[in-house]
Amino acid sequence: MAAQPASEPKTAATLKLQAALQLLAQSGHALPAGAAQGSLPWLQSVIDGLCELSSRDALTGLTNRRQFELTIAREVDRVARSGEPALVLMIDIDYFKKINDTHGHAAGDEVIRSVGRALQDCVRPMDTVARFGGEEFAIVLPNCPPAFGLTVAERIRLKVQRRAIAVASGVEVNVTISIGGAFAPQWVRSSAPLWIARADQQLYRAKSEGRNRACLEQPAVSQISAEERSMLFAHSQFQDIE
Ligand code: GH3
Ligand code: MG
Ligand code: MG
Repeated sequence: MAAQPASEPKTAATLKLQAALQLLAQSGHALPAGAAQGSLPWLQSVIDGLCELSSRDALTGLTNRRQFELTIAREVDRVARSGEPALVLMIDIDYFKKINDTHGHAAGDEVIRSVGRALQDCVRPMDTVARFGGEEFAIVLPNCPPAFGLTVAERIRLKVQRRAIAVASGVEVNVTISIGGAFAPQWVRSSAPLWIARADQQLYRAKSEGRNRACLEQPAVSQISAEERSMLFAHSQFQDIE
């Protein structure tokens, strides 16, 4: 039986590594200058770079949808355990198709980038701003008390509305956004898709009520008392019994 050429798998692996290194170079990820190719610190840097690349949106540099879904699933978990309030905002640029039709696709891309930067400027380091789809963004705000929800959403809406976006030399446009928001149910293990769907319903409401507005779901008042909460997570006196 003829043996497989030993170099074949190695060649394929080398090609994949070269493609990965090209991607990293293109994205500006610098590999450690002092580390020899193939050494552990070098490989770690390649892996870190690829992880970073796979979690970012190429157009805006924001967190991409895949990474956002992981982030929000972790937040669902945290809210269920800690009872801390958390808000998710779904954001969509109003009449965006008109920007593309009037100024061209490259101008549309610039608007998406600029809105992304405006959103990032409005939030705390602990918040995650993501590009969710074409001209849609999503933000998860951990530890955001319900009383502040609308204030935050309005701050974001106004920031975008007031921004003059240069789309070509001498051409500036203004856009508005619609925002839908929902709080994660505290002390309850919900799911990321259900939470996003509730915020999406509010976004739909903001669109149908005229756009350029923020609509937030009224957070349900928890029926669980403080004492019950502490019992829920206190160490059981029976847990050590075999
Ligand atoms: P509405 O106020 O109801 O949101 O109207 P709209 O025009 O913003 O919504 P619609 O969903 O009709 O249009 C979104 C457009 O966004 C359609 C699509 O061609 C465009 N789009 C999606 N992704 C990109 C992108 O990456 N770059 C550019 N330039 N356009 C994009
Ligand atoms: Mg849209
Ligand atoms: Mg839109």
